[in-house]
Amino acid sequence: EQAFFYRDTWVEVNLDCIVANVSEVRKRLPEEVAIIGVVKANAYGHGDYQVAQAALEAGATMLAVAFMDEALSLRGKGITAPILVLGASRPEDVNIASAENITLTVFEPEWLEQAKEYLDSNATLSLHVKVDTGMGRIGVRSIEELSMVEKSIASDSRLLFDGIFTHFATADELTDSYFHEQLGRFKEMVASLHTRPACIHSSNSAAALRYGEAHFNAVRLGIIMYGLSPSQEIKPELPFQLKEAFSLHSKLTQVKRVNKGEKISYGGTYETAEEEWIGTIPIGYADGWIRKLQGQEVLVNGVRSPIVGRICMDQLMVKLPYEVPVGTVITLIGEQQGSIIPIDEIADTLETINYEVPCLIASRVPRIYK
Ligand code: PLP
Repeated sequence: EQAFFYRDTWVEVNLDCIVANVSEVRKRLPEEVAIIGVVKANAYGHGDYQVAQAALEAGATMLAVAFMDEALSLRGKGITAPILVLGASRPEDVNIASAENITLTVFEPEWLEQAKEYLDSNATLSLHVKVDTGMGRIGVRSIEELSMVEKSIASDSRLLFDGIFTHFATADELTDSYFHEQLGRFKEMVASLHTRPACIHSSNSAAALRYGEAHFNAVRLGIIMYGLSPSQEIKPELPFQLKEAFSLHSKLTQVKRVNKGEKISYGGTYETAEEEWIGTIPIGYADGWIRKLQGQEVLVNGVRSPIVGRICMDQLMVKLPYEVPVGTVITLIGEQQGSIIPIDEIADTLETINYEVPCLIASRVPRIYK
């Protein structure tokens, strides 16, 4: 079902793009390598349930989220595929994970001991062990720690050792020495195990596309599913054309001819240099379209037109190329009449990475699906 809304500002997510991106990766992976669709943070702002379905349709067989809340939200919406929680969960919440068939991450021996104390005697809990090979975030850091965790799981029939994984810090960079250090450390850790779990995984999108030696038997695809490059550096070497799924639109609520020398918005920082057509649209910093985007262009009938004056909480003003009627669609991200504003351009304006842009667009902005 589609979102219903009374304000003409919306995100459009093209699920065919997500299906196409996942299918392109699927084609290039050996058959025995599974795809884990990373749908944390509401699927990078795209909508967890819809993206999960599209990813599963295109060949993903497992999903990953950051927190148990996100896994429970997917279960609540009817997703039955295996779900791995990548981040740290609270040991006291293990029975909920067990009841909902959610796989949790073991990242240190102490966590596991506490989790065992909380776990009901008749419950079973699926676990993946996270190894910190150089990301420095969460994970067991030595063979000794890994061995403690392995023994502790093996000694408790309620616990299932289903997977082991690590995360690369530099898989999207052109220099690969640190990547190889991490991969080497992961291989050593895996080799030290007495029993190999069914699911061994290390690759994010960048590594999945660039390093076959890091595939093991599953890859975790995030950014590439959404049609965005893991970094600017590796963009030229991507093996297929990515299809950007996310676009952002609004509609003009007021259009006016303004005399030369009039001021626009808070602080009066913009003054019309001549007689100008100024339009107002109902999106502002409370929607994640933050004040730093002042000056960024939007599309009006396919023509690039700048945001003028300070961006307000719920509205902003655009210098229109010519008189256009109220109700005209304004595209802030995406394609319009042959022109395009990609997410990478917004990331550049914001001096950040493309990952952050769709995540920043607030939940106040409805997502509609094509
Ligand atoms: N695996 C882990 C542990 C992550 O934290 C993330 C996202 O940051 C991913 C996989 C997916 O990474 P990407 O979006 O670069 O494919």
